[in-house]
Amino acid sequence: MPRVVVVGAGLSGCGAALAAQKAGAEVVLLERTDMVAGVAIRAGETNGNGNFVCAHEFRFMGGGELFDAMESIKLHDHVPFPDAALHSFIYNAGLLEPLVKKIVLAAGIKVLLESRMVNVKKEGRRVTAVKVEDGSEVPGDVFVDCTGSRGGVAACNKYGKGCVMCLVKCFAFGDRIGIVDKAGGELYDRLRADGTPGYLSSAMMMFKDTLAPWLKKGIEEKGLVMVPVPKELVDYDKLKLMGASRSKEFIENICLGDIGPVAKGFGMVYMELAKLRRINGFENVQVEDPRSARYNFIGHTGMAVRDQFMKAEGLDNVFCGGEKASQGSVGGATMSGYVAGHNAARMAFGKEPLLLPRSLAIGDFFAYVAERKKTAEGRVLNLNVARGEYWKRMQETGLYTADVGRIKRRVEEAGLMGVLAKKL
Ligand SMILES: Cc1cc2nc3c(=O)[nH]c(=O)nc-3n(C[C@H](O)[C@H](O)[C@H](O)COP(=O)(O)OP(=O)(O)OC[C@H]3O[C@@H](n4cnc5c(N)ncnc54)[C@H](O)[C@@H]3O)c2cc1C
Repeated sequence: MPRVVVVGAGLSGCGAALAAQKAGAEVVLLERTDMVAGVAIRAGETNGNGNFVCAHEFRFMGGGELFDAMESIKLHDHVPFPDAALHSFIYNAGLLEPLVKKIVLAAGIKVLLESRMVNVKKEGRRVTAVKVEDGSEVPGDVFVDCTGSRGGVAACNKYGKGCVMCLVKCFAFGDRIGIVDKAGGELYDRLRADGTPGYLSSAMMMFKDTLAPWLKKGIEEKGLVMVPVPKELVDYDKLKLMGASRSKEFIENICLGDIGPVAKGFGMVYMELAKLRRINGFENVQVEDPRSARYNFIGHTGMAVRDQFMKAEGLDNVFCGGEKASQGSVGGATMSGYVAGHNAARMAFGKEPLLLPRSLAIGDFFAYVAERKKTAEGRVLNLNVARGEYWKRMQETGLYTADVGRIKRRVEEAGLMGVLAKKL
């Protein structure tokens, strides 16, 4: 049986592993920490705008496990996020990790935790094995890089003042290292407005019990409360610095959501504790991770140049998903992971990759991104189905629809019902 080796057990890696396993390959999933689900353990918001359509397409194509998992731990439904107002829900971020671990293990995937890949073995443009920190090697036929944005303490220090999407335990478990990086595939960084590599974004996690009771009650009842920031504390320069991934509403307000274990300032730029405590409701607040809250993460560095099938350019048998494939967000990571894993298995079985037609939102999106990323201008963009230029396109082309029956018909007409659940 051909073997697919996936490195990185965030949502993209778990999606890739599930897809490759269902296609009939033997799958080994390596993760440097003792957890799966990656940074999604502090995400929470998903399904917004175009994600709703794509998640349903995946369900009809037979790749719905992780979308269903998030739905099953839904904490707040129809949450009116200012920039993703339709269909958004918040899942309980505290319940995600054990649930995803259970799903991956139940599928029969061999999961190697605390197994950090540190290098690869290669023959020409083909990777033949990954080398693990403990000195062992994991050989395979096809490989999937789901290691997220390239990180490491060095990059944190050089490009920003936080962790590089390592979120928790980053120092304890060692730096992120990607297959594509080590194998010499093509990489690029998203640039900030001033040309500095890496996209800076932020979210502040706060202990719910340290909020004023009315505010804690408010987020637990409604999911989200917009708390106005006093004018003297609003700093629009931060928006420029962050590359404006969010609108100014996220600077003028604290967009505070309940994600289960903690309250999360969505899209919230670091604010010194002394200033934060001057805001109504935050007088005694404590931040969960003061270190990472200071420009919480630097993302979108060391991304692999890849095609619409998620195959990394410059390498013959390496696919990539999630942040590594420039598909950030909970939905984007999951979707690109499934596609990468399925196509890795197809390659392992000597089959052509699956062409997702442009009549499907996900087919159009992946093809669109692959085209846009060929240009220097396109590479700086953070393309996703919930916001910005692609969400606009989705509405203009009619690919966005709230009609689940219509989404099902499109998948049927494309002849792709259950395609991701069938053995090859
Ligand atoms: C604080 C925060 C809040 C967010 N909030 C939201 C939100 O509300 N909604 C939303 O849609 N998106 C959100 N995002 C973005 C979204 O969570 C991510 O884009 C997505 O989860 C990334 O998934 P991934 O699988 O690509 O990468 P990751 O989740 O980063 O997973 C990569 C995995 O690879 C492992 N790894 C790395 N190198 C190695 C190696 N050498 N060997 C073995 N393992 C390795 C890492 O330990 C990690 O587990 C948020 C991100 C952050 C950081």
